[in-house]
Amino acid sequence: MQRAQIIVVKLGTSVLTGGTDKLDKAHMVELVRQCCELKKQGHQVVLVSSGAVAAGREQLVTPCGRSLIDKQMLAAIGQGQLIHTWQSLFALYGVSVGQMLLTRADVEDRMRYLNARDTLNALLSYGVVPIINENDAVATAEIKVGDNDNLSALVAILANANKLLLLTDQEGLFTSDPRSDVNATLINEVAHIDDKLRQLAGGSGTNLGTGGMATKLQAADIACRAGVEVIIAKGAGENVILKCMAESLPGTRFLKLTPPRDGRKKWLLAGPKSSGQIVIDDGAIIALQKQGASLLAKGVQQVTGRFVRGDLIELVSPAGNSIARGLVRFDYTEVVKIKGCHSREIAAVLDFDTGAEVIHRDDMILL
Ligand code: GLU
Repeated sequence: MQRAQIIVVKLGTSVLTGGTDKLDKAHMVELVRQCCELKKQGHQVVLVSSGAVAAGREQLVTPCGRSLIDKQMLAAIGQGQLIHTWQSLFALYGVSVGQMLLTRADVEDRMRYLNARDTLNALLSYGVVPIINENDAVATAEIKVGDNDNLSALVAILANANKLLLLTDQEGLFTSDPRSDVNATLINEVAHIDDKLRQLAGGSGTNLGTGGMATKLQAADIACRAGVEVIIAKGAGENVILKCMAESLPGTRFLKLTPPRDGRKKWLLAGPKSSGQIVIDDGAIIALQKQGASLLAKGVQQVTGRFVRGDLIELVSPAGNSIARGLVRFDYTEVVKIKGCHSREIAAVLDFDTGAEVIHRDDMILL
């Protein structure tokens, strides 16, 4: 038997409705059976379930539009129906479920992140299947994760999961768009997500930008860095979850990377949204990547975004490649003043001295 694992299964609306405008309960029961089979084998399962908006639309007598407020209303109507359906299907196997509705605000703040993590772990320790969705009814643009692919990566980090299965209506990531290119082939394994792959999934034109591959790749990127193996596979058909686990289903598998040991650094991957960008010079890039150094003012070339002390900032190379992210120790106006300065000049420029590190190593994660 395989070692007991924590498996996050993300089910997109297309999987739950089978491409129709209703929840496909026959398929849902089939997915539940497989989750319960995994539990019988000793694994723990977390579901990230979309489908609230689709369930709401199914129930609403007077058809409504597709604006944000319409979708929020539909989610408010449909979420109850969705969780009720899951609850009654898992009950057939004597398994309880627990609902958690999250927004980015719940993981951005470190205390709220820890609270969500503790609740999730408590559910798992009691053998309950957590069923998670974005709290769409209240998630406005500023606080929403926006898509359940990225949400599932955050959940995988919260749950300290071993695997994340992103089940969708496509077999995985292809070398080009299989709908228009007969030579397109499925990419079976990805060891490292690079800009070329990102372009393939999210650029415009002859690629897989539609069907949500871009957000799946973002999710895979975050989860892999946190030490989670990620599989994108087609969620229709029999035994998809069990086949995914046995690696007998065609799909794209993303190898996990070595995760940071420090829990706080994992939160940096999962939680805060970036409030700005700092372009750093080549010397600083080498110091960060090769010498485990902090970012000093001297290495700062350019500053964008109106961040304040304590915000999360992206560090990028002059060519725009992401190098690291971390919590900044100065407001943006101060970073603008001290950029390029030698450490000993900072106190004079700012009239106060809080040290030369713009981002301390302990508050930074390399990408
Ligand atoms: N939270 C949305 C829903 O329940 C789905 C979002 C997504 O699938 O990315 O309908």
